[in-house]
Amino acid sequence: MLSLVVRSRMSAIIPNITKLTSRVTRILGCNPGPMTLQGTNTYLIGTGNRRILLDTGDAHIPQYINNLKAVLNKNKILLEHIIVTHWHHDHVGGVRDVIETVSPGCKVWKYKRSDVEEDQKQYNCVKLYELSDGQTFTIEGATLNVIHTPGHATDHVVLQLKEENAVFSGDCILGEGTAVFEDLYTYINSLKIIQSLQPSVIYPGHGPIITDPIEKITFYIQHRTQRENEIIKLLHISNESITSLDIVKSLYKNTPESLHQAAKYVVELHLKKLLKENRVIKEDNDKWKIFLKNNM
Ligand SMILES: [Zn+2]
Repeated sequence: MLSLVVRSRMSAIIPNITKLTSRVTRILGCNPGPMTLQGTNTYLIGTGNRRILLDTGDAHIPQYINNLKAVLNKNKILLEHIIVTHWHHDHVGGVRDVIETVSPGCKVWKYKRSDVEEDQKQYNCVKLYELSDGQTFTIEGATLNVIHTPGHATDHVVLQLKEENAVFSGDCILGEGTAVFEDLYTYINSLKIIQSLQPSVIYPGHGPIITDPIEKITFYIQHRTQRENEIIKLLHISNESITSLDIVKSLYKNTPESLHQAAKYVVELHLKKLLKENRVIKEDNDKWKIFLKNNM
């Protein structure tokens, strides 16, 4: 699953090509959809005639390739590197089209997934160079620091642009709504890592630029913490161990029953996080209880 479950409000239209600052140009992936909002934001970074492209949108989107080509040709730019934030198709899908039609010979970089063995076929046989946490890319006008931020996906990275104190957040933080995640424990840790960078601006993988990053990250963390606190409270007051569905029935009373399975998935992600932190116990019968010292 990709990027978004909750769409809180409509945002302004994102143009296909926007020069955001002297060193950042946003080129919209032209792949709108319920999970990608107006489409994937891809970013051309640097000021010289060799630049870095962050993310490539979906495969087979001629409109995107034409827009990218137009920007590169007009400014006599070649791509030095392509970096992808994570393996989802709306970020890595266009990589072959970009290499073949826009920039042959350009190196493509991605962090390695830890949840599955990756197959190059999945990436249309494009050779991927492996990113590492803390790696730096330097090109004219831009110094980019790679930061591994798993949670949305195991291979997710964000980039810190030192010259602007900016962060390209991929799908870890979105321009609107809240992001989905696979692993809440690592996801919250990743949010805290981004928070510790104290960015002045965030360029997200979807949706508009975030000009109040600290407030946004605090909201993201609080949003998740609030649900967690409710689960803990419920486990505390339950005399016996309970199932995740019991928790859903109690906490999502006002939610239609048809959505309870989806809610159960979220509750279980919370429980897994709490289990990692030794704050709950999972019993053999798939029931959960709070971890108290005298449980031992
Ligand atoms: Zn995405």
